[in-house]
Parts: sequence; C-alpha cells; structure tokens
Amino acid sequence: MKFVLNWGRRYSLWVFNFGLACCAIEFIATSMSRHDFIRFGVIPFANGPRQADLMIVSGTVTDKMAPAVRRLYEQMPDPKYVISFGACSNSGGPYWDSYCVTKGVDQIIPVDVYVPGCPPRPEALLHGIMKLQEKIAGETLEDRYPPEADA
Ligand code: SF4
Repeated sequence: MKFVLNWGRRYSLWVFNFGLACCAIEFIATSMSRHDFIRFGVIPFANGPRQADLMIVSGTVTDKMAPAVRRLYEQMPDPKYVISFGACSNSGGPYWDSYCVTKGVDQIIPVDVYVPGCPPRPEALLHGIMKLQEKIAGETLEDRYPPEADA
C-alpha cells in the first residue's frame, strides 16, 4: 500500500513556481519541450499554492519578499515539498553580503532538495526532481509528520 501511495505522489507533483529572478528562466526552460519535465510526472504551473504539492523557489529571496514566500508556503496543503533552485535561493548567491537579501530560503521554510548553480542548468533541476522523488518513495506520511506525543 505504501508503494502505491508513494508511486502516485511522486509522479503527480503539481508545481508552484516561485520565480524571483534569473533562475526562474531556467525553470521555464525545463518545462518546455526540449527538457520536458512532465515526462517525470511534474506538472508545471499549478493555479496557486492551494493546488500545489511542490514549491520551487528560483531566484533571489529578499527580506521584503520573505514573508510572502512563507505565507504562500503555509497555504499549500500537506504533504508539501520545497526545492531551492540556484545559489541565490540556497544561500544568497552573489548577493551574500547584501543588506536586503535573505541568506537562504531555508531560513524561512523547510527545504527538501537544494540545486546548486548560478544559474543551474535544466538538467540540474531534473536531477533535483529525481532526488525528491527518491525521497518521497522512501517515506511514509508518519515519517514526515510524526504524530504528536501524548501530553
Ligand atoms: Fe540569478 Fe545566479 Fe541568483 Fe540564479 S543564482 S537568481 S542566475 S544571480
């Protein structure tokens, strides 16, 4: 039963693309016919966070934008996943010493997979997606959301 559930979840990932800068162009390239990530069961462009399983944060997260990233993440239904795509989203990237850039989106939301690069190539995003699918295949919802211990 776990295999069937996880097989369905890993190959029907509706994506909420949180594109913030140049890396978002590589995300769009990955969704086009040359790289075609729909063949991996990734469905681009969910109509909003409430219909999405996977948020891909691609680009520079500023401190001013960070609360919006957090709010939209909270609107996604469980189980939900996050890929941080590119150096800016991973750590601030070339703007690591800027006064207004968040030094990694993982400071505000949990991240499942980090894709390095400035910008990463579409193949790197495909690799990150496959890593996330491996993670989903090996987990149960109890692993991800442990029941709270009785008080
Ligand atoms: Fe642009 Fe590089 Fe930052 Fe991606 S990692 S958003 S390519 S500066």
